[in-house]
Amino acid sequence: MTENFEEIYQAAKKQVKAHLSTHRYEHCLRVSDYAVKLAKQNNLDEQQAALAGLVHDYAKERSEADFLEKIDEAKLPKSLKAWGNPIWHGVVGAEFVKDELGIEDPEILQAIRLHTTGGLHDEMTTLDKVVFMADYLEEGRHFPGVKEARAITEKSLDRGVFYQLSHTLAFLADKGQVIYPKTFDAYNDWANYLKK
Ligand code: GDP
Ligand code: FE
Ligand code: FE
Repeated sequence: MTENFEEIYQAAKKQVKAHLSTHRYEHCLRVSDYAVKLAKQNNLDEQQAALAGLVHDYAKERSEADFLEKIDEAKLPKSLKAWGNPIWHGVVGAEFVKDELGIEDPEILQAIRLHTTGGLHDEMTTLDKVVFMADYLEEGRHFPGVKEARAITEKSLDRGVFYQLSHTLAFLADKGQVIYPKTFDAYNDWANYLKK
């Protein structure tokens, strides 16, 4: 990536720590580590993966008012206002990362935007998939099925993405939660793409 990566990474780490509770900061460190592991397995720039993983939840603890203001300031679609933190912290969170951490790498910003919902198979880059999966599989995750999800992802990053998409969709539906259209679109697209 760049020769002063260590400096950039340490500066971002300080900012992430300052804006998040301890448990979420530690989650970000573990996502960064897991993203490096997946980057190695998938021939991806490890530094880019480490930084994207570190900052993916940077905006997670911002207030509703902060997100609503940023949606206007960044001229994002007004329709986003109907959603909430689970959707905002990725899609709108990327704007906070750009403005406050000075990270302008469009690939990192896209990975942040897609990290909660995923995206269509031909829209998601390897970095997007790595961050999406690292968030799900980091060593602090203990949900039923996490071991199976790790094993599948080790064999095929794409199969891992579909595992997460289908299980998250089922989990949200089981709780009667509203599902973001992009989550549905991603699920359908990947189901079609991976069907035999
Ligand atoms: P985290 O930020 O590390 O906790 O993980 P994520 O960014 O992946 O997910 C944040 C939250 O959003 C989780 O509680 C998910 O279950 C939830 N989530 C994921 N997709 C959707 C969706 O389509 N709609 C809604 N309402 N929530 C979602
Ligand atoms: Fe998140
Ligand atoms: Fe996360």
